[in-house]
Amino acid sequence: MRDFSQDHRWLSINTATLRKSRGADLPLPAILDLCAQRGVRAVSPWRDQVAAAGLGNVARLVRSHGLALSGYCRGGMFPAVDAAGLEAAHDDNRRAVDEARELGATCLVLVVGALPGALGGRAAHKDIGLARTQVRDGIGRLLDYARSVQMPLAIEPLHPMYAADRACVNTMEQALDLCDELDPSRSGALGVAVDVYHVWWDPKLQAQIERAGRERLLAFHVCDWLTPTQDLLNDRGMMGDGVIDIPRIRGWVESQGFAGYSEVEIFSTGNWWQRDASEVLDTCIARHRSAV
Ligand code: ZN
Repeated sequence: MRDFSQDHRWLSINTATLRKSRGADLPLPAILDLCAQRGVRAVSPWRDQVAAAGLGNVARLVRSHGLALSGYCRGGMFPAVDAAGLEAAHDDNRRAVDEARELGATCLVLVVGALPGALGGRAAHKDIGLARTQVRDGIGRLLDYARSVQMPLAIEPLHPMYAADRACVNTMEQALDLCDELDPSRSGALGVAVDVYHVWWDPKLQAQIERAGRERLLAFHVCDWLTPTQDLLNDRGMMGDGVIDIPRIRGWVESQGFAGYSEVEIFSTGNWWQRDASEVLDTCIARHRSAV
């Protein structure tokens, strides 16, 4: 297992972590500047932040700062109520693949979606089985395109509390079943993003990480699970402030040969997004050394 205690060369910052500074929006170019100033070598930006700053502009800044992209957030949201909706999702995902390519990302992260309409508070139906079928078919179709432009797809299983509205793929086992079905040769074109926030509780986690192996482990996301958690989406903790044994999970991932970045991804309306982004980033760097 790599020693993270001496430096932060394997730290990546998911730019959602710094999307707000003292409660106000912080534009992506300012986030990239801040990361570069601190010697952070990698980031993982979100599509809305990239769109706001302009794709070409962001691609230029990434290159001029010499930043790597440990991922691009995010594609997915495959299920829909009709054929036109499925087609629109596919088109949007193709665009996400193209953006990931232009930015030089190592993979496109997929939050696969769930019951159509649920995210807006009104689910169109209750058939989670149908949603899962549409997710499988949607990833399979997107994979053909992603392969053709050599952009790996990383399925991110989300904690089951999001099964209705954000992702109906909720465990590593489920994500890896999809990988085995759609990419049986383990080509590297399809794998998983292991986010400790979503999977730390899973009694099969170690076994499924071993099953994934190096070919399927495309990204590693860290933050912490607070007790109590105040908000299902936006109350993620800083590493070391919660109950996740992050070094243990990182050890499992690295024992399979994963040697990529450890990406800090914290959504925190009430705490970290209220602080100055410089303080948040300095804390991420310190905790990367002491608690990851
Ligand atoms: Zn994540």
